[in-house]
Amino acid sequence: MPDAPHFVIVGGGTAAWIAAFIFQDSARRSGLNARISVVESSKIPTVGVGEASTAAFRVFLQHFGINEFEFFRETGATFKLGIRHQDWRRKGYTYYGPIDDPHQVVAPPRGAPSDYLNVYSVSAGRKVQDMHLFGPLLERKKAPYAKKADGSLIPLGPFHYAFHFDQALVGKFLKARSAGIAIVDAIVAGVERDAETGHIAALVLDDGQKLAGDFFVDATGFRKQLIVRELNAPWLSYAKELPVNRALPFWLDIKPGEEIANYTLAWAQEAGWMWQIPTQTRYGCGYVYSDEFKTPEEAKQEVERVLGREIDTRGDIRFQIGRLEKAWIGNCLAVGLASSFLEPLESTSIHGTIVQMMLFAGRYLRNPAEMTEADRDDYNARVGRQVDDFRTFVNTHYVVERDDTPFWRNVRAERLHQETRARLAHWRTEMPRREHFNGFLFGLPHIETQLHYPVLDGLGLLDRELAKREMGEQPEVRAFARKTVESLTKEYKLAATKALGHAEFLEHVRNHS
Ligand SMILES: Cc1cc2nc3c(=O)[nH]c(=O)nc-3n(C[C@H](O)[C@H](O)[C@H](O)COP(=O)(O)OP(=O)(O)OC[C@H]3O[C@@H](n4cnc5c(N)ncnc54)[C@H](O)[C@@H]3O)c2cc1C
Repeated sequence: MPDAPHFVIVGGGTAAWIAAFIFQDSARRSGLNARISVVESSKIPTVGVGEASTAAFRVFLQHFGINEFEFFRETGATFKLGIRHQDWRRKGYTYYGPIDDPHQVVAPPRGAPSDYLNVYSVSAGRKVQDMHLFGPLLERKKAPYAKKADGSLIPLGPFHYAFHFDQALVGKFLKARSAGIAIVDAIVAGVERDAETGHIAALVLDDGQKLAGDFFVDATGFRKQLIVRELNAPWLSYAKELPVNRALPFWLDIKPGEEIANYTLAWAQEAGWMWQIPTQTRYGCGYVYSDEFKTPEEAKQEVERVLGREIDTRGDIRFQIGRLEKAWIGNCLAVGLASSFLEPLESTSIHGTIVQMMLFAGRYLRNPAEMTEADRDDYNARVGRQVDDFRTFVNTHYVVERDDTPFWRNVRAERLHQETRARLAHWRTEMPRREHFNGFLFGLPHIETQLHYPVLDGLGLLDRELAKREMGEQPEVRAFARKTVESLTKEYKLAATKALGHAEFLEHVRNHS
């Protein structure tokens, strides 16, 4: 019998452990006899700033049968039901981006196009966020659960939520649940390549040892040890349209008894924006800004002025915004920060890792000897499109009315990508529809209209007259949508009065195993 192929994952951050977990589980389920190793270095730290996920993380937990209450307990995670966008459209204006999709719970009437409830809300001049369950929960910092008379918890809806967490604890959690993986603590210092194919044949470790393998995953974070340092993979920069390039992270403690936000705060500032992401004991915070417009000292002063208190900064992170042109070259696949990075405005990074690894495991994971150039081209095209969609969505958040600082004037005048302009122009002739995102990820989660509508609505980018015209063409659909939106809004407002407070929910979960 031939030797089992050896898959080697380099890195010890969230990306590496998500990849390792999915590889081992998928290989086992599909009967692929594979050896899996993770090379991680205790000498090089992971990123770790307080991370927000998307609903894809819950899809991931459920898909792999992981108990999410255990997840809450072991990782100090909190709920994320959406994003609170503060001072983006203009100073003093706040909107929420709830991540649940009400279309999911209503059987549509015959002939109803996708997103008809969204279109109706816009036509009626109602806020799109109001017909979401997560809308009132976000405003009241509630959990999407109520307590029954017997003390047990009952979910208030079938919607996927997301989480905030400390990525180091998530890595540890997944590591503990990944079976049969060999772990090597070493720094990869170089590689040996096959003279004929150019493929990586072995890793050269810092102690001089070699580790041979058949397939390699580069999850080395911003270092991009294999894919760029060794294989020189070209990088596609998004710096022109996404202006922030530096982050100033810090923590804020959560006091005992204090209610905990169930949203990621994305708070626009003079040269970028500030994030606040709660775990169970503290907020991971930071100012992501453009150093063309602020020095690190000025950025710190601005944060202290805005918060009215001093902060202890936890580093100075510089980053390049963009993606690899090809994340999979030869027998090396890059994932996580090694493959792409965008400012964390829509939490696309860990989301991207999960979707990319589930895509890879579902369609291309087999004996590396049988993987083809067509596989690589197909995967790279899909992943490239996915990350370009992230770029365009994040770029859309910068279509604002603000012009109060040089940064915002520059953003408005020069930073909109042509695809952002083209999409917005299209959505002035036709309301956004799910079909505009053409399903290239085989049903895996993607940022489609469910996330676009609240943001486009919050920024005032949807055309009410157009929505009215489209609704007017289908009077029965319109009548059904009116009734539905009214009843959902009422029902969800009431549900929010019964929901547990976020901190109370977390305490319950900590105390009940
Ligand atoms: C400012 C900021 C805010 C962010 N906010 C969010 C957010 O809200 N939501 C979100 O989804 N994502 C966010 N991210 C991204 C998120 O942190 C990462 O996607 C996630 O932590 C995965 O990182 P990683 O595993 O790719 O890299 P890292 O965490 O950097 O891990 C890299 C690993 O590779 C190892 N390594 C490196 N070089 C070598 C080598 N030569 N040999 C052996 N091992 C090596 C290191 O030891 C480390 O274990 C944010 C990132 C930044 C910078």
